[in-house]
Amino acid sequence: MKITIFGTGYVGLVTGACFAEAGYQVMCVDIDKEKIERLKQGIIPIYEPGLDRVVKENYAAQRLHFSTSAGEGVAFGEFQFIAVGTPPDEDGSADLKYVLAVAEEIGRHMEQHRIVIDKSTVPVGTADKVRAKISSVLAERKVDLTFDVISNPEFLKEGSAVADFMKPDRIVIGADSPANAERMRELYAPFNRNHDRLIVMDIRSAELTKYAANAMLATKISFMNEISNLAERLGADVENVRIGIGSDPRIGYQFIYAGCGYGGSCFPKDVQALARTASTIGYEPRLLNAIEAINQDQKTRLFELVSRHFDGAGNLRGKVFALWGLAFKPNTDDMREAPSRVLMEALWAAGARVQAYDPEAMEETQRIYGAREDLVLMGTKEAALKGADGLVICTEWKGFTAPDFAVMAQQLKQPVIFDGRNLYDPSRLQAKGWTYYGIGRGASC
Ligand code: NAD
Repeated sequence: MKITIFGTGYVGLVTGACFAEAGYQVMCVDIDKEKIERLKQGIIPIYEPGLDRVVKENYAAQRLHFSTSAGEGVAFGEFQFIAVGTPPDEDGSADLKYVLAVAEEIGRHMEQHRIVIDKSTVPVGTADKVRAKISSVLAERKVDLTFDVISNPEFLKEGSAVADFMKPDRIVIGADSPANAERMRELYAPFNRNHDRLIVMDIRSAELTKYAANAMLATKISFMNEISNLAERLGADVENVRIGIGSDPRIGYQFIYAGCGYGGSCFPKDVQALARTASTIGYEPRLLNAIEAINQDQKTRLFELVSRHFDGAGNLRGKVFALWGLAFKPNTDDMREAPSRVLMEALWAAGARVQAYDPEAMEETQRIYGAREDLVLMGTKEAALKGADGLVICTEWKGFTAPDFAVMAQQLKQPVIFDGRNLYDPSRLQAKGWTYYGIGRGASC
């Protein structure tokens, strides 16, 4: 079986590399010439644990190929995966221009039957649009060729994308015929050996499943953030509440941490896109709107705490803050919609400077913000503390969880931590002479 993947981002590159690792012949196509050139030289454009080896080994073994030519890609694989971005349009809906551009290329270049698979996160009804686009191009070309469109949303998590793809919790297939479902079962067989992980359904349900999954996860986070805001005002500690409710197996411990808001390329855009879909069919998505609104507010929480501690009036001129964690979550270099960006931009607007450290996302930060006087990227987390007025934590990297507080206190001008991820025990820190602000830790701070 030969596979073509359009888009070599977090999803496309991981999908392509993992299919190649299973033994398939895979061609990854991207319109970004520089990215493809660098991939051919073994330079991986993103940080994702384990990806480097899988890409390099399979490229060397000539199972994984890279191209900028859509024609070459369409000619290559019987399976044509669309794994391009679906960024938010101005009104929050998913912008399908990249998806439909690939569909157009497939229609333009196909010379035999092709199975087209939507792996991008796309609104309900997109498979119909992809089908219509390919059909219209084939009609223009006056050729009579058959093709199938299948929905196969991706559930990998940045930071563990390779492991997630290799051992998926589930593989959702939206197919309009048993024969198509069977082709997908065969394709995914290498990743489906331990027990059956394939969940086959109709196409529209598969498209909605992806949005429902992300919206549910975002709901859990915004719910805990709402509880954290109550805890703070009521003199309770949200960490105790978390442990208390997580012990109920109907709730569980996963994904119920309060913090400084969710970011990344998926939750914010997918919650908005689903809300937009709802509005377009005349349904008011009250819960989805609230999830997003709570998250927007939560991202401003750390700045509020900093501002209140130092000034109260939003003037931090001359102050310097150490910032640990730039990526939107650990084990990635992805800065899309990261809470650290909202914090830094607020600190800068208030006249403060930032000394930041992140194990993986500093290059990306540099790319986004360029050179500016009020941002210095430091080589270690300790260096970031030197001469700073306080420490702010935005990402729960493992390396931040057990620092040497005595050394830290010597580096900072005053021993104060604004912890957006509730990494530390407030009472222990207070006993060591620190002023500690967490999220929703009313009883403990
Ligand atoms: P990305 O922005 O990292 O990568 C998209 C790539 O597509 C880019 O390299 C871009 O140059 C390329 N591209 C654009 N138009 C193209 C075309 N016509 N032909 C070939 N390549 C083209 O995006 P991503 O994070 O990999 O996400 C892709 C899709 O998967 C999105 O719909 C996203 O919502 C979804 N998704 C993402 C994740 C995640 O964790 N990032 C997880 C599950 C699903």
